[in-house]
Amino acid sequence: MTGKTYEEYMAGFGIDKETLTIGEEALTSLKKRFEAIDRTAEINQMRVLSAFQNAHVSEACLYGTTGYGYNDIGREALERAYADLFGAESALVRPQITCGTHAITLAIMSNLRPGDEIFSPVGKPYDTLDEVLGIREQRGSLAEYGVTYRQADLGPDGKPDFDAIRRSINEHTRMAEIQRSRGYASRPTLSVEEIGEIVSFIKGIKSDVICMVDNCYGEFVETIEPTHVGADIVAGSLIKNPGGGLAPIGGYIAGKEEYIENAARRLTSPGLGREVGATLGVLPSFYQGLFLAPSVTAAALKGAIFAAEIYGKLGFQCDPKGSDERYDIIQSVTLDTPERLVAFCEGIQSAAPVDSFVRPEPAPMPGYDSDVIMAAGAFVSGSSIELSADGPMREPYAVYFQGGLTWPHAKLGILKTVQSLKDKGLLTSQNTSNVL
Ligand SMILES: *Cc1c(COP(=O)(O)O)cnc(C)c1O
Repeated sequence: MTGKTYEEYMAGFGIDKETLTIGEEALTSLKKRFEAIDRTAEINQMRVLSAFQNAHVSEACLYGTTGYGYNDIGREALERAYADLFGAESALVRPQITCGTHAITLAIMSNLRPGDEIFSPVGKPYDTLDEVLGIREQRGSLAEYGVTYRQADLGPDGKPDFDAIRRSINEHTRMAEIQRSRGYASRPTLSVEEIGEIVSFIKGIKSDVICMVDNCYGEFVETIEPTHVGADIVAGSLIKNPGGGLAPIGGYIAGKEEYIENAARRLTSPGLGREVGATLGVLPSFYQGLFLAPSVTAAALKGAIFAAEIYGKLGFQCDPKGSDERYDIIQSVTLDTPERLVAFCEGIQSAAPVDSFVRPEPAPMPGYDSDVIMAAGAFVSGSSIELSADGPMREPYAVYFQGGLTWPHAKLGILKTVQSLKDKGLLTSQNTSNVL
């Protein structure tokens, strides 16, 4: 038997010559960008490796503990490595932190007391925090504990409005919650440098404001993290960038010792703090996932830029654009019709290693006022560092797309979306004539 050609393998996945050409055309303009991403990954790989070596990670660190989890040397070394990597005094990296929202909630609730105010300098925070902060009424919210919330909206250009920030800070302001990634909003993602400017500005007005960064989707996109530019705390999810696709659960918080200790006391209890919390069998995946995270993030970034480049050329609005600087791994493409949104998600699903035979369908979701369609065929349920896409079934029918554990897989998934649109007659010759 002779080996099949590249084109034949692609044809085996239903990708025709025209779609392949669209992909290859897009790639020609991305060479320099991909080189820069590879260089960032190289630097971050060395940063991770140094953190492992400085933390004296040994084979025994991989074993884990059960029960109370006292003297878990693997957990302790991993937390030292995270602290080192983030340029922080301390870190909490635990399977008991169930998700990103939980990590952020811990960082917030453990460090605020009744009468304090929490402040967002970059508009409304991520949806799941509404009920934590009490923006939407919810039992157990911060509002119920007498903590107030205030926000300064972004300016018309999507940039922080420093006058509004100055006006918002008052004697009760105790914490600033700064969301790095756009998440699923239409504002631009902040660079680490911009976060540093916001932190300095806030501390210049009131030096005891704790600056906490929601770091979700931003880790390893640059070679520094918000804690390197003055943020007091960063928090995020291990089923996004820093888990490298291997962590099956978990969250992290890194920052000033005092604030991390407060978080540990709230995660377990005062008096026990960080001394308890068995790691069971997850440490190998936490370590190995972190080791792979720079490369995995690079793959996801390449996929996002590739998608933006192709869909931009096909005439769709992409945010960010193919040529824009990037500070997170999220890509949105405005597809204008419900049929295209569904076809895009079907394309992603059909490229999945798990559940590829499933057809995603729009369905109601709690917290959304329209149906939502989601494509995910992930090894870890809900993992959005793996190739995934979703979008609300309403105008302008934008799809949010992210992840990809390897660049070849991200590339194939995106080509599958183009093919899916074409096969359903949802791309006009005007779309493709821009590219071909
Ligand atoms: C994903 C995300 C969160 C919440 O993470 P979950 O793990 O889904 O709870 C918070 N903020 C931003 C910006 C995110 O992207």
